[in-house]
Amino acid sequence: MKILPSSGLWLTIVRIMGASMLDHLKANNRAWAERMVCVDADFFRRLERQQAPEYLWIGCSASRVPANEIVGLDPGELFVHRNVANLAPPQDANYLSVLQFAVEILKVKHILVVGHYGCSGVSASVDGKRRGLVDHWLHPIREVYHEHRDVLDAIPDWSDRLDSLCELNVIRQVRNVASDVFVQEAWARGQDLRLHGWVYSLANGLVTDLDVTLERLGYQRKLAPHPEAKTDANRLD
Ligand SMILES: [Zn+2]
Repeated sequence: MKILPSSGLWLTIVRIMGASMLDHLKANNRAWAERMVCVDADFFRRLERQQAPEYLWIGCSASRVPANEIVGLDPGELFVHRNVANLAPPQDANYLSVLQFAVEILKVKHILVVGHYGCSGVSASVDGKRRGLVDHWLHPIREVYHEHRDVLDAIPDWSDRLDSLCELNVIRQVRNVASDVFVQEAWARGQDLRLHGWVYSLANGLVTDLDVTLERLGYQRKLAPHPEAKTDANRLD
């Protein structure tokens, strides 16, 4: 029979391990803060006083896609929400809270949904393997696949097919953001707000604009059903 240490001892062990294992990150942090102050002595004082980003970034959690660095923005200039495969699900309280805060409090001018080629989340959504909870999270991407199955199945290379699915997923998420009530209400108030869909390439560090930018008038036109239309008035693609 093993004798387990008391919870207090466990805490001490964890603290000691954590301290020694993360020392390099703390050292990096101190060096970074010193560099920032060397370049701009007032940087942190200014950052502390205000948060007025013009952009909300909805991106993938992937470690290879650092949002601020990709677009050359400093802390304080980009409001960021990230999750597996850059989804904007209308039932996700985390995403909705970020969206409401960004639109109604920060009054960002641009919302960027940014996917990336080679996304493991997009791949996992359609590779047929069972992983657990994440399979439910990725369900909307499987729906996108089925919706565009004819086009996607005609792409012979599996990697190229997944990259196309990454793009289609971004377009779907832009559509989700556009149809959200927070965004609809902002546009109804006349708020200056544009939505964009981008894909980032891990291979060369460049973003591609998918040219699905939406702003108030454009989306309202798309939302208004044709008098003779029976279905499908809201399709963007
Ligand atoms: Zn990803």
